[in-house]
Amino acid sequence: MSPVLKNIIMATLESSLLKSKFRACLLGSSIGDCFGSPYEGDIITSGEKIIIQRYFDKLEDPNFKGPYKQYTDDTAMMKSVAKFLIDKPEPDYKFLAKLFVTEYFKDPKRGYGQNVVEVFHKLKNSKFDDIFKPANEQFLGSGSYGNGGAMRVAPIALYFYNKYNYMLEVATNATKITHTNILGINGALLQCIAISQALLCDPETKIDPKVFCNQLCDKMKEIEKVDEDDLDATQNAYQEKLKIVENLLEKKHDDKLDEEVILHLGHGISAYESVPTAIYCFLKAQNEIPTIDTGNAFRRTIQYAITLGGDTDTIACMAGALAGAYLGEEAINPILAKQCELNKEILELADNLFSAREGLPIE
Ligand SMILES: [Mg+2]
Repeated sequence: MSPVLKNIIMATLESSLLKSKFRACLLGSSIGDCFGSPYEGDIITSGEKIIIQRYFDKLEDPNFKGPYKQYTDDTAMMKSVAKFLIDKPEPDYKFLAKLFVTEYFKDPKRGYGQNVVEVFHKLKNSKFDDIFKPANEQFLGSGSYGNGGAMRVAPIALYFYNKYNYMLEVATNATKITHTNILGINGALLQCIAISQALLCDPETKIDPKVFCNQLCDKMKEIEKVDEDDLDATQNAYQEKLKIVENLLEKKHDDKLDEEVILHLGHGISAYESVPTAIYCFLKAQNEIPTIDTGNAFRRTIQYAITLGGDTDTIACMAGALAGAYLGEEAINPILAKQCELNKEILELADNLFSAREGLPIE
């Protein structure tokens, strides 16, 4: 059956399901960030995988009372991207740059990277004269290829899910405020496309990982098209990674598989070493994983992403956005969601984004 037939055509998708997917995507992104953040930078051993299993069991226990799991820069910047779309009918990138900077100076201790902080200072000091210049100047003019553009792109993927070319344009510009390297931009585009693709999938129908990867690969082929004389090493970078995702998904799970995933896909802060990993986590978690004891595919996605270690908050955030966009809100245990610092605010933001898109009055 063709992927088109397998997927729901969004025109016929009930508005209530679409709204539920908007909510779950943004909530999933924030849950991944909040729950992943305590493990950021860790190398996870098999013993720690058991501890992470207990951590999630505890978070799902209705009697558990603990402080909120705090959000980091991933959620802070994703909130600004959502606001940028909700508040202005036409994308205004200067407005977005100001939202990022205002949010940072209001609450700077949210784990922002040093380079992005430098961009924020330069933007502020230059009075937002040229909003792309500070990021463009970084790394001797080559720009950052970090995963900062990808981690915050979810609202753009939702808002423009049926305006593909425009979605790519907005995601590119929203990324370039902080990340101008082609790998940083294309990583954000890959995450954006993957979310909009997950949004279009019927949650009642199992995703075929091969079809999902091939669809992504075809789209990245268009994006990564470069001058034939240009032998840049970044050429086809994400297409190659997606082929690795597909191959790894076909392998039977054993003790060594997670190491292979880390080795071949990565778990770092660059977009190249984290966006394909998040897509892999999302697709793998649609089936049982022997080291993870839960029947819930949403929890399995986040929990599995964290067990890979490294940039856990951002990889879990991106994987959580994908799982939410596919599964919808019903898949997220509300007890688990309540442990997340901004859970109510994020749902409100998703509803406002949905209403802004539909042109409906906000209830
Ligand atoms: Mg973070």
